[in-house]
Amino acid sequence: TNFGFERVALAEKQGRVDDVFRSVAKRYDLMNDLMSAGLHRAWKAQLIAILRPPQARAFRHLDVAGGTGDIAFRALAAGGAGTHVTVLDINEAMLRVGAERAGHRFDGRIDFVTGNAETLPLPAATFDAYTIAFGIRNVPRIDAALAEAHRVLKPGGRFLCLEFSKVDLPLLDKIYDAYSFHVIPRLGARVAGDADSYRYLVESIRQFPTPGAFAGMIEAAGFRHVTHRLLSGGIVAIHSGWKV
Ligand code: SAM
Repeated sequence: TNFGFERVALAEKQGRVDDVFRSVAKRYDLMNDLMSAGLHRAWKAQLIAILRPPQARAFRHLDVAGGTGDIAFRALAAGGAGTHVTVLDINEAMLRVGAERAGHRFDGRIDFVTGNAETLPLPAATFDAYTIAFGIRNVPRIDAALAEAHRVLKPGGRFLCLEFSKVDLPLLDKIYDAYSFHVIPRLGARVAGDADSYRYLVESIRQFPTPGAFAGMIEAAGFRHVTHRLLSGGIVAIHSGWKV
């Protein structure tokens, strides 16, 4: 036994993550546009293009770590009247911004749930799709989150994860490192008044498993036909898996 040290460390990580997003919630959308030079919009559009919510039948979609609603709004715009999205996030400050942004646009087709990706407060075999965008690297126990994703999906349901990955182009990796370690914390300080939060985010990207290793974790959670594709030279990856 490790005398519970690991449990304490994991709880600390979540506490840290919660502080980050509480502190940046109001500026989060602006920061995304600035830090990624708008690229996050193309990456999210790509995720929705792969998801392809149907036009003519009911589709229950769960977006975990859904934050201010970007993925949900795009899925609702792309899908038919039968598309319904549940946005789940551990942080109420982020969800509040999301609910404000939604306004009355999607009444009855969206709901916001406070909860932890590791212990979803949702029944088994409920959803046709589970997405998580720029969320899983913040979750302390990734294997627990993946097991929960598998549990709440219906058989035939799809798991999709959009996350920062490892840049695999020789020159781009140097530029990306310089950008991550110098530009992002400065932007965080100037726009969100919080350099430390953004330093933490850069660090969490470094520590996330490689795309191949992450694919193995998705398989270990029970998903089949696991694939991934790299976007923008490996700055981000989209992983896909199916519950059969
Ligand atoms: N998906 C949104 C997007 O792509 O713009 C938000 C991504 S934001 C970088 C990460 C989100 O993960 C935050 O809103 C944070 O509160 C949430 N989060 C962190 N840990 C979580 C957990 N254990 N369970 C659920 N959400 C979590």
